[in-house]
Amino acid sequence: MTDLTKLSAADIAGLVANGDTSAVEVTRAHLDRIAAVDDQVHAFLHVDTEGALAAARSVDERRAAGEELGPLAGVPVAVKDVLTTKGVPTTVGSKILEGWRPPYDATIVQRLRAAGTVMLGKTNMDEFAMGSSTEYSAYGPTRNPWDLQRIPGGSGGGSAAALAAYEAPLSIGSDTGGSIRQPGAVTGTVGAKPTYGGTSRYGLVAFSSSLDTPGPCARTVLDAALLHQVIGGHDPRDSTSIPAPVPDVVGAAKLGASGDLTGVKLGVVTEFTGEGAEPGVMAAFRESVEALAKLGAEIVEISCPHFKYALPAYYLIAPSECSSNLARFDGVRFGLRTGDDGNRSLEEVMSLTREAGFGPEVKRRIMIGTYALSSGYYDAYYGQAQKVRTLITRDFNAAFEQVDALISPTTPFVAFPIGARTSDPYQMYLADLFTIPTNLYGGPAISVPCGLSEGLPVGLQVMAPTMADDRMYRVAAALESTVGTFTPPAL
Ligand code: GLN
Repeated sequence: MTDLTKLSAADIAGLVANGDTSAVEVTRAHLDRIAAVDDQVHAFLHVDTEGALAAARSVDERRAAGEELGPLAGVPVAVKDVLTTKGVPTTVGSKILEGWRPPYDATIVQRLRAAGTVMLGKTNMDEFAMGSSTEYSAYGPTRNPWDLQRIPGGSGGGSAAALAAYEAPLSIGSDTGGSIRQPGAVTGTVGAKPTYGGTSRYGLVAFSSSLDTPGPCARTVLDAALLHQVIGGHDPRDSTSIPAPVPDVVGAAKLGASGDLTGVKLGVVTEFTGEGAEPGVMAAFRESVEALAKLGAEIVEISCPHFKYALPAYYLIAPSECSSNLARFDGVRFGLRTGDDGNRSLEEVMSLTREAGFGPEVKRRIMIGTYALSSGYYDAYYGQAQKVRTLITRDFNAAFEQVDALISPTTPFVAFPIGARTSDPYQMYLADLFTIPTNLYGGPAISVPCGLSEGLPVGLQVMAPTMADDRMYRVAAALESTVGTFTPPAL
């Protein structure tokens, strides 16, 4: 019998719809796989066995009753622990929310449930989505299924590792500076950051509200598009949600899979192809650019002169917003409370709670952000960074007058060994050198596996104009049709 955990989401949905397998069988196969490998990988913080089986049974009953099922009905999905799930623990990888069971579902989770997908559980992540390796989780690191001594990327390392380890065919991530795409790149999976406002932030624990974008992760481009279609679209509960339909990402992925890119013009970002990336990463990228040209794409070089300021601008904007967003974790409203012995003042309890509940990277960001926003420094730091953000947006706008999409490697380096970058924050920040400009601009971008370097996966990033998410799926699917998908050595 087929190993159900090796199938694509599209194939699983087809089998369930035809009655060739049941949602319960599919769910059991994935729960068994999690039981077999997750003590090595540690992709999950919480596995919701009962909830998953109940959701699967309901899909099977609806099918038996002749109800119309959605395109992903019966397909298991793992959700990054940054999204609230009603009654199911949500920690954001932090001790400060340990034991918190939210009273409501995030909009994305509601949509996943309404579509008949089966939520397997919550995936590990860097604390509050701050990091590039999942080593900053308060619950221990996730390991890369390609090499258990290496990182799976971050902050959504759990969501990417769950795919690469065949624990789930689909997962949800969130991308503030690269946390969907970078883990996708280093685990050989697909990760898409939708247009900012194209997916709802309602129920997403906020890190940097003007950048945070939840999105789909999968092993194939079509699966990512199918998931994007289910979770995307306007949400009146999120004031920054775009009141427009989801671009036809599924149609675009199918079109791209035909392998024809005639008439598509792609710009290789000059600033991202010089120094800074490992030679093996650049070699895989260059080969993929040739492959895209063979499919009919016209390739040109495009300079985006302000992209080099994206990293410093991001590391002022994101910490500034986080210093404000994380003020709500005060020991009063949610989760942890420390030192409340009846003799301490409210302020002392808040301070002890935050001291005990936040890890070093989160504290560093709160301090940087508080400093950058303080009166007297605001214009010099936060104000300047916002101006740089405008210049980066202008670079994108100018580029998209000449090309349909921009391409670059997703990350400068392949998965690094656990522990290699934790002693120097700047070395960790460099992992998002190529992904951050898109977040500052607000457009969509996808990482698709494009080859191997030193036996480890390399990702190619496609960046498109805002609300042209379909374009990136077309290009990514075309590349996938020629380079194929990448399977890690068996665990
Ligand atoms: N690695 C980046 C950071 O640490 C991006 C994180 C993210 O996208 N959530 O902020």
